[in-house]
Amino acid sequence: MNIPKTDLPRVVIIGGGFGGISLAKKLLKLKLQTVLIDKHNYHTFQPLLYQVSTSGLEPDSIAYPLRKIIRSSDCGYFRMAEVTEIDAENQLIHSNIGEISYDYLVIATGSKTNFFGNKSIEENGIWMKTVPQALNIRSLILQNLEQAVITDDPEERKALLNFVIAGAGPTGVELSGAIAELRNNIVAKDYPDLEPSEMEIHLIEGMDRVLPPMSEKSSVKAAKFLKELGVQVHLSTQVKSYDGVLVETNTDVSFRTYTFIWSAGVTGAPVKGLNASALIEKANRYEVNQFNQVNGYSNIFAIGDIAVMESEDFPKGHPMVAQPAIQQGSHLAKNIKNILNNKELEPFKYFDKGTMATVGRNRAVVDLGKINFGGFFAWFVWMFVHLWFLIGFRNRLVTFFNWVYNYVNYDKAARLIIRPYKKPYNKINESQEL
Ligand SMILES: Cc1cc2nc3c(=O)[nH]c(=O)nc-3n(C[C@H](O)[C@H](O)[C@H](O)COP(=O)(O)OP(=O)(O)OC[C@H]3O[C@@H](n4cnc5c(N)ncnc54)[C@H](O)[C@@H]3O)c2cc1C
Repeated sequence: MNIPKTDLPRVVIIGGGFGGISLAKKLLKLKLQTVLIDKHNYHTFQPLLYQVSTSGLEPDSIAYPLRKIIRSSDCGYFRMAEVTEIDAENQLIHSNIGEISYDYLVIATGSKTNFFGNKSIEENGIWMKTVPQALNIRSLILQNLEQAVITDDPEERKALLNFVIAGAGPTGVELSGAIAELRNNIVAKDYPDLEPSEMEIHLIEGMDRVLPPMSEKSSVKAAKFLKELGVQVHLSTQVKSYDGVLVETNTDVSFRTYTFIWSAGVTGAPVKGLNASALIEKANRYEVNQFNQVNGYSNIFAIGDIAVMESEDFPKGHPMVAQPAIQQGSHLAKNIKNILNNKELEPFKYFDKGTMATVGRNRAVVDLGKINFGGFFAWFVWMFVHLWFLIGFRNRLVTFFNWVYNYVNYDKAARLIIRPYKKPYNKINESQEL
């Protein structure tokens, strides 16, 4: 990997997500060699991916170059690589660009989309975990609208104008609300040949309420907001299959659609090589102790989505959201410093800063412990928090400007098909090529 040998201890971090960069920023200030590895050369602010998918923001507003973080120290290195295996016995990791040894290894590889073994959804659906995937959704939505304008087959038109989202967690709720706003504010103006009411947005949820991880009150409010925006919510309904055209469920409801977005679950993204006892098989995540040490290893740590730290307050581990990753990253930096100074390790304690989700313009819900609120103030809080945590001053400024512009003009500036999306399996594939 062309990283100079050093007498300093070497910490290798796999993953430049929320956990990885929170840790790296702190380690870069210590007398250490810090090596950050990620398969992308940028950090992705996943909470705003849905705005890229729905033309609200350009992708470069929510991505941040990892080298810009590392360059603050002479002892910091970044390598763009996919780590393929860990050889704990020899303290080595293998990647697609070579191998590197470590004194301390931190696994911060996050999670990936979970299809629960359903091949038809994996092969034919579309999902959103990375910037390229968000751009795929943006292109697909816009391509389908363009196609709907020219088709004279009513069945085909219906499939092109039906947008179906599975999973009413924060991602599904935010996506369906944003697609509804695209219909309500943009389609009517940009596509005079289409009748906006022909465009239907269906949100399918297996549980009996939207936003299952949030309070009942927030669920009720979010469901009301979705209804106001014209999203059709189908509760206690599970998707059985999607063949590229037809979504079948466990009820008698089915949908013809060329846009089926799967946002119904994630699972850990572990790296091959550690002992079986390190991994909680069902969750595909590493079991860690209160110091983030992976079960069975003293110099291998895991943080963020990939780690399950069981405690009295969180018997199944912390929620798979950004805050535990950020807090564990920064806490682990302290513990690595403690190790180097022969001090005792300090247990991690999670500080829950609350949960929120936005449904659209002036509509959001916030749970702060036992307090919950919704509407304009919650939406304002949501925007402030997301701007605050967005990485990079430029990104904050551009995002803020975009939001103000969109708010004032009821517009979404980024509705561009830059890189057309091709579904290899979709039967309208050829005709969709633009
Ligand atoms: C669409 C979406 C919306 C979300 N919305 C919210 C929200 O509103 N609020 C909230 O708190 N949380 C939200 N989350 C969850 C939040 O983004 C995650 O909990 C958080 O990103 C976890 O941080 P992490 O550091 O563990 O992993 P990540 O941020 O996922 O980072 C993992 C990194 O590891 C890299 N990587 C993975 N495997 C390898 C490998 N083998 N080799 C090299 N690099 C590798 C990846 O490229 C990635 O950069 C959302 C997630 C998604 C997908």
